[in-house]
Amino acid sequence: MAEPLLSIDRLSSGYGDFQALFDIGFDLEEGAVLGLVGANGAGKTTLFKAIMGLLPRSEAMVRFRGRPVGAASPHELAALGIAMVPEGRRLFRSLSVEENLRIAADHGRRGPWNIREIYRLFPVLEEKRRMPALSLSGGQQQMVAIGRALVANPALVLFDELSLGLAPIVVNDVYATMPTILASGISAVIVEQDLERSRSVSDRLVCLREGRVVLQGDAADLTKHDLTAAYFGE
Ligand code: ATP
Repeated sequence: MAEPLLSIDRLSSGYGDFQALFDIGFDLEEGAVLGLVGANGAGKTTLFKAIMGLLPRSEAMVRFRGRPVGAASPHELAALGIAMVPEGRRLFRSLSVEENLRIAADHGRRGPWNIREIYRLFPVLEEKRRMPALSLSGGQQQMVAIGRALVANPALVLFDELSLGLAPIVVNDVYATMPTILASGISAVIVEQDLERSRSVSDRLVCLREGRVVLQGDAADLTKHDLTAAYFGE
């Protein structure tokens, strides 16, 4: 059988003396979408930071295409093809939309995504291409953050809270681009507060509570009741 694209094995991490993650384990198959759910403070963002090398973890805890990468730097992981769309977007706020995309494209890998393709995916960004990122709406900034991850032509994108602070109609627009993104060959881990949305977009779901995996399985097999119970700890 082919190696999973991403394997997380007994991953523990935290902030100084505070342990936030305990023995996390799951696999993501190539081409699949894994939905990561859990209440505020469950450890979802911390897990992304640990995978990306922004928090302590050890070599064997993260494997990418079978290769241990738990000691790799964020820069090395980007070069291997892992990108993150962080919570809060973290754009260069005074640079234009196009400059934000250009920086990522210039430092990225070769592949199907370029700035023109990002404008095809999000036409409003072409209209706003000379505007500073800070002048855009929250939804448009989220589109820039997604575009910035895609133009680096990653194999795997970690999406953190795509819907945070956005109006429902904007959230729908952002999620409507997901099939195109996935069809380009990208695999994804998506943090999403909305359990039903997470279930509809994901092949597999992992539910975290208090830094531990409390439930995981195929999205089609997990009932709403199972998920809600795991999420709230009932
Ligand atoms: P949210 O939906 O609120 O983003 P989350 O599931 O992403 O929640 P984390 O932000 O990963 O949760 O937080 C997990 C735990 O780590 C919480 O107990 C939180 O208080 C703690 N934590 C998060 N960031 C830090 C930090 N920079 N320093 C210390 N503790 C932190």
